[in-house]
Amino acid sequence: MKEALLPILVQDPVLKNHKRIIEGYKARRDFFLDGPLTDTVAILDFDPVNGELSKGAHFNKGKIVGWFEDDRKRKIRDFSGKEIYTPAFMQASVFATVLKTLDLFYKKKDPRDLSGKSAKSDEKPMNENKVRYGENCLGRPLTWAFNASQLLVIPRAGEMANAYYQRDSHSLQFFYFPSEKRPDKIIFACLSRDIVAHETGHAIIDGIAPHLMDAASPQSLAIHEALADIIAMLVAFTSRELTSQVLDRQNGSIKDVSAISTIAEEFGQACGHRDGLRNLVNQKNLNPADKVNGVRRAEPHELSEVLSGALYKLMVNIHEQLTDELKEQPQYQKRKKPRYSASGFALQKAINRFVRMTFRALDYLPVGCVSFADYGRAMIAADKIAYPNDPKMRGWIREEFQKRSIITNIGDLAPIVKPRRHSLGKVKTAELHASDWVAYEYANAHRGLLGIPARIPFQVHPRLDVTKQYEGDRSARECIFKVSWEQEEANPSYPNLPTRRKVTVGSTAVFDWESGRLLTLLTNARPPEKLADARREIYFTREIHENRKKEYDAQELDRDIFIRELMEQGALRFGAQALGPDGKPLPSVIRGEVVKDVMKLQNTFNYLHIAEVE
Ligand SMILES: [Zn+2]
Repeated sequence: MKEALLPILVQDPVLKNHKRIIEGYKARRDFFLDGPLTDTVAILDFDPVNGELSKGAHFNKGKIVGWFEDDRKRKIRDFSGKEIYTPAFMQASVFATVLKTLDLFYKKKDPRDLSGKSAKSDEKPMNENKVRYGENCLGRPLTWAFNASQLLVIPRAGEMANAYYQRDSHSLQFFYFPSEKRPDKIIFACLSRDIVAHETGHAIIDGIAPHLMDAASPQSLAIHEALADIIAMLVAFTSRELTSQVLDRQNGSIKDVSAISTIAEEFGQACGHRDGLRNLVNQKNLNPADKVNGVRRAEPHELSEVLSGALYKLMVNIHEQLTDELKEQPQYQKRKKPRYSASGFALQKAINRFVRMTFRALDYLPVGCVSFADYGRAMIAADKIAYPNDPKMRGWIREEFQKRSIITNIGDLAPIVKPRRHSLGKVKTAELHASDWVAYEYANAHRGLLGIPARIPFQVHPRLDVTKQYEGDRSARECIFKVSWEQEEANPSYPNLPTRRKVTVGSTAVFDWESGRLLTLLTNARPPEKLADARREIYFTREIHENRKKEYDAQELDRDIFIRELMEQGALRFGAQALGPDGKPLPSVIRGEVVKDVMKLQNTFNYLHIAEVE
């Protein structure tokens, strides 16, 4: 393992009230080369004038040249501020931010992590008192959704007010544009730490839940968008410089609007928004009667704020509770302001607990079109398995989802599936994990349990082998098993639009690796019409069954509105019309595939970056 000290932006460049613009970040990877590049990330910087590949930032003894006075002290050289606009700084800082974002999820000691190369044994033992992130989040290595080891990062991709992640080209692209207010000033997206972390977040989420990219439900896309903002928030929370300033000003609290809750301040202001592009401290909701904070149900960007607002509130609650617990400890009691002193450490602990619920839930999501409620149930399930004796967070999420009209009843987020002592029986977990044939046979024999309709073909997805930390640092191994199938429904009537469409739905079963016991089962398939048909295996009460049917109908209606809007905007194209002159899919178009007058959407994710930054 090599270590490199990199300069990283604390906050957007032109923001007031910040003492320092850059701080040091120590990254550890198998190797670092000029560019900069490492096994999983490569910066490719093209000169905007001649389009040629620019000279990459240079390393000397594990340090990017030019930004630090003293390697060990991480002391940043005094500079006027203009230097951050040099290509070398942009390359180094975008690289540092991407690595720092990945480190939230990076499972260091796993030999299969991203690059496929093993971690060397010279790695120093972890300091047990230090808060660690990556190791206890997903409990498995991160993988990219594309078939290559490196994510390519283009810091100056061209002139426009945008930035995006693109799976087809394995890349993150950051653009630049003249400010609306001051046209002589150029705004670089690659210099916004929030935007870089957000786009890296999309690449990470795509690796965890690749099916979201083709989902036809606006809420599925909004989950992608909201979690990318939440990842940007987490990266901000790991900046010592920024968090100490925010906690200082807000007396140890994160609950009010701050530089952390505001996403992409400079970019937002330059595009004419008063504050940043989005704010995580918000009351956005799905209540159509709320004229101030109610959002359009079929617009993924607006919808995303409902979810990210709910998740930010969850983070605030965890932080407050941990701060209150810590401040009672003797070492904080001796301080003048025990609550404030405890708040910084509480924040780092809060991140750990928060990601264990919110990102493990992504692994539990059923494949296909998922709603906020599906994601909520996955969060409840992940938290209940890891923290059976601590229901507080589950209560907070239910409350927040109800307040924002995501669910009508607190009970709607109860695990709808209470597997009655089901287990794999004679099937060995290791075989289920390793063999597609064993996995298929198991699913076929348990169609009722998994909700797969009779005689319909289905797909078994690669099983996940995860070893997670539970309550009290207990660790346990799970096998996550997913199946999916296609469901047909009517399209809205619109000229040239096929009358019917297919949507992907599925079920996720989570098994305890040792005992083969079924821990939880989540499904997003259409519930059967009659309770009598459902009760046997999956649904339990009449009320839950009725609510699930209503929830499914609402999602179907959202898809209708979304598809109609795509047609109106000319963003949904079929066949060759979705391809560019080079025969490749156009990046700003959503592709529709039609077989026997039934349509299936592809690359709906493109909708998010048609106007990612607007
Ligand atoms: Zn986005």
